[in-house]
Amino acid sequence: MSSPVLMWFRSDLRIHDNTALAAAARQGPVVAVYLRCLPHWQRHGHGANKLDFRARGVAALHEALEGLGIPLLHRELDDFAEAPQALLAIARETGARALHFNHEYPLDEQRRDQAVAAAFDATDLTATGHHDAVAFAPGELRTGKGDYYGVFTPFAKSWHRQLTAERLALRETPAPQAPLSINADPLPPPPELSDKTADTPVPARFWPAGEAAAADRLERFLRFRGRYYQRQRDFPAIRGTSELSPYLALGMISHRQCLQAALTENDGALAEGDAGLVAWVNELVWREFYQHVAHGFPQVCRHRAFQAHTEQLPWRDDEAGFAAWCAGQTGYPIVDAAMRQLVATGWMHNRLRMITAMFLSKHLLIDWRLGEAFFLRHLVDGEFAANNGGWQWAASTGTDAAPYFRIFNPTTQSQRFDPNGTFLAEWLPELAELPAKARHDPPRDLLADVDYPPPIVDHKAARARALDAFKGLTSD
Ligand SMILES: Cc1cc2nc3c(=O)[nH]c(=O)nc-3n(C[C@H](O)[C@H](O)[C@H](O)COP(=O)(O)OP(=O)(O)OC[C@H]3O[C@@H](n4cnc5c(N)ncnc54)[C@H](O)[C@@H]3O)c2cc1C
Repeated sequence: MSSPVLMWFRSDLRIHDNTALAAAARQGPVVAVYLRCLPHWQRHGHGANKLDFRARGVAALHEALEGLGIPLLHRELDDFAEAPQALLAIARETGARALHFNHEYPLDEQRRDQAVAAAFDATDLTATGHHDAVAFAPGELRTGKGDYYGVFTPFAKSWHRQLTAERLALRETPAPQAPLSINADPLPPPPELSDKTADTPVPARFWPAGEAAAADRLERFLRFRGRYYQRQRDFPAIRGTSELSPYLALGMISHRQCLQAALTENDGALAEGDAGLVAWVNELVWREFYQHVAHGFPQVCRHRAFQAHTEQLPWRDDEAGFAAWCAGQTGYPIVDAAMRQLVATGWMHNRLRMITAMFLSKHLLIDWRLGEAFFLRHLVDGEFAANNGGWQWAASTGTDAAPYFRIFNPTTQSQRFDPNGTFLAEWLPELAELPAKARHDPPRDLLADVDYPPPIVDHKAARARALDAFKGLTSD
């Protein structure tokens, strides 16, 4: 019998349409490996919601692998730096000669994988990385000058132009294999979290983990909401989006599975046809764009602004303002409702992510990196590339930077995207009794007996302050 082949699962927690798993299974009987690096992830700011979702995703994967006769071995590490030795030890224990994994693109993850590849190369073992999470490997799509794209629209055009059926073809799921003499490890206990403020994950029923749950969400989204996506996606009171982000972030579903389903629903087209489905596909291209950005502009992985000259911005040191923003107590109802949704559910609607991020970075002129970290700590879909990209977009320090003078007025955003105040009433029960139209900017006399703070900044004055700060920059 041929020697076993190791498949190292990371943020690709699925057995279907998994490039590295398919490659490993072609080479020999597979032994799956999962390295849990809790202290490392916590040091990097991941909070209870994502860690809990990940743990439940690994449990679902464990079960799915069992059905294929693939044992899953677990190891606990303190740091990514221990990965090469841990994997070599598993190779020795199991007699495996080869390792497969799917690439992750942020800097630390790349360095970890390079160290693993070097350690395997130094022996007579092989380690092979596969591009799986994206249709194009970072660097495959470049501008006419040969650079990585720093602007979305030309990236998306190039993505559509060069896309082939092969790039989206689903990878083969391994057939069940004969049992190996290697037993699966028991599942590790749930993560013990040292982080005291975000240490209780939201109830598991909010985000059931695993491939089946993800496939079910995709199917229901496309059946009931996909065609209305463009019209509904900006209204947080409507469940108009797919809510697949946590599943995509941890690979419980692949972008190919999503795009194939959209293709089927849209008569074989991605860039034209039903406006709702086309708009949804565009968001999946945004996701890929930010993966390329994280790879091509590694300064963003070092907490640096994409646009270097914006490093000079005079961010304000405002602990009280930051605390009010985190707690949903800014006195701007749409900002507060959104922040409370985030903390209570581990998720926030995209329109609200833009509004709250812009409020922190522009109205309060607080460094976007603090907001980025707070989001990562609470989001169940917390994902470096999209989170960093979204924050830098809102703060006008990033790719496709929102021109710095575009500063959302939270009140008019609220009136426009929650016209009946439904979302506000759901998350701010103290304002629910107010007439719907008054919830966006409650008059003080209506709040006499209501425990809700006055606005912590005046919109016009805050806007002027942010504009001054940006005007003071010298561009590079
Ligand atoms: C400040 C800020 C922070 C963000 N942080 C994250 C994050 O940590 N993780 C994350 O997955 N997304 C992040 N986003 C992007 C976006 O808000 C979420 O992906 C989206 O709200 C998830 O909801 P959905 O699954 O219903 O999306 P849908 O509207 O159904 O979109 C489908 C998928 O496309 C991807 N996507 C959608 N919009 C974007 C976008 N703007 N950028 C990149 N990918 C996108 C997601 O994978 C999403 O699941 C952030 C956006 C902003 C403005």
